[in-house]
Parts: sequence; structure tokens; C-alpha cells
Amino acid sequence: MTVLELSGVARHYREGDGRLDILIGADLTLAAGETVALIAPSGAGKSTLLHIAGLLERADDGEVLIAGLATSDMSDNERTSLRRSTIGFVYQFHHLLPEFTALENVALPQAINGLDRREAERRAAELLDYLRLGARARHLPSQLSGGEQQRVAIARAVANAPHVLLADEPTGNLDPRTAEHVFATLMTLARNTGLAALVATHNLDLAAQMDRRVTLSDGRLVELA
Ligand code: ADP
Ligand code: ADP
Repeated sequence: MTVLELSGVARHYREGDGRLDILIGADLTLAAGETVALIAPSGAGKSTLLHIAGLLERADDGEVLIAGLATSDMSDNERTSLRRSTIGFVYQFHHLLPEFTALENVALPQAINGLDRREAERRAAELLDYLRLGARARHLPSQLSGGEQQRVAIARAVANAPHVLLADEPTGNLDPRTAEHVFATLMTLARNTGLAALVATHNLDLAAQMDRRVTLSDGRLVELA
């Protein structure tokens, strides 16, 4: 099943009098459970692509389909609602709320989605156990290691059981061993829950473990070996 499809996605930014064409006709198909690495130099447009794929930003042209639903004609409210139920984000920095425990951070998105708070916390505890973070559930982010913080951020991103995880340099701030550990968490979720993941990364060792690798070239997505 295709969970994310980009078709002819174009995006430019104004630059002084001229324009900067970041994406010209980007195509991508991501199936359930598939893991794809997005490898390209800084400034190539990785974040722009992830924001468009995640419905945070609109393309100038082309279409983004989430679980078969075309999104370009949707209202902002419809896009937000679809995003909340189908897409999770992870960034280079964890962005956990410092005054809330790991458990509360993971439960929050579900509570925002309307789930009863106790039920949200029950599910968050289950997810943290599953990711071997159960013993850390009552800790504040500042009491966790860097790898644990990022794995809690992954748990938060998948708390609503999204179809797609979009990750922008999720291990960019971690030492190699910790990066491996955080990455393993992503792969476990993809393998066991059918979560599809598109991961922008400079880490070629981790990219090599994913199903496919793509790069941005002249505004298009191109498959790498
Ligand atoms: P990457 O994530 O690969 O580093 P980005 O998608 O962040 O690339 O940026 C691609 C290019 O678009 C960069 O040259 C950046 O400066 C430019 N850019 C990104 N966002 C904006 C914006 N909102 N307005 C103007 N230029 C932007
Ligand atoms: P991970 O690979 O998950 O990042 P580490 O090997 O870095 O884990 O850390 C091992 C243990 O050390 C962690 O379970 C954590 O409890 C503890 N630890 C590491 N850094 C900190 C920290 N800054 N504050 C409190 N505990 C820490």
C-alpha cells in the first residue's frame, strides 16, 4: 500500500529580483513499512521537501497524496487534521517540553487529538515500554541521555500511529554509537508496525541499512544505488 506519494512537486523561493527553484518536479512513492534515506548536501532542499510531504508547507505545483488522498485542494484545516492523524515528525533536536516527563511528552499529541488523558498516558507508557524506555517514563528530558531524549521524541512522533514518519537529520546531533541506537528504534518501528519513514541524513552507514536511498538533483528526486 502506498502511504505517501509526491507527484511533480515544485517549490521556489524568491531571491532578490530572481527566483530560486528548489524543487522542479519531485516524484516519490513510499509504501507502508518502507524506509527511504534522503541524502543531499545542505541547501539542496531536503527540509523543504519534508515540509511539503508533511503538509506543513504547500507546493507551488504538483500533488502530495497521503494514504491515497490528494491534498493540494484541501483547506488548511483539512490538511492540519490529516497531518495530525497520519504523519509524525522528528528533527535534529528533540524539542521535548522540558517541564513535562517523557511519558507526558509522548501522551500530549494524543490528548491534543482528543483522546482521554488517562488513556493517552496508558498508551504512551505502553509505547515507551515497547521502545525499552519504560524505566525512563517519569524522567524529565534533562534527566535523560541524548539518545534517550531522541528516542522519546520518536515515541512522541509515532504516538498517534501515523502512516509516515518524516525525519530531518534525526541523528545529526549524536555520537556514532548513540546514532546507531536511535536509528535502530526507527527501523524497529518500520519493521514491526508498518510505519513508512523518509529520513534526511548525512550518515551513509545508516542510509545503507534502509530500503532505498534518494538524492535531490536539479530539483528532482533521483534513486541512488
Ligand atoms: P536543506 O534542508 O537540504 O539544507 P532547505 O530545504 O532548508 O535545504 O533549503 C533549500 C534552499 O532554500 C536553501 O538555499 C535555503 O536557503 C532556501 N530556503 C529555504 N527556506 C526558505 C524560505 N522560507 N525563503 C527563502 N529561501 C528559503
Ligand atoms: P543511549 O545509548 O540510549 O543514549 P547512553 O548509553 O548514552 O544511552 O546512556 C546510558 C545511561 O546513562 C542512560 O540510560 C542514562 O540513564 C544515563 N545517562 C546518560 N546521560 C545522562 C544525563 N545527561 N543525565 C542523566 N543520566 C544520563
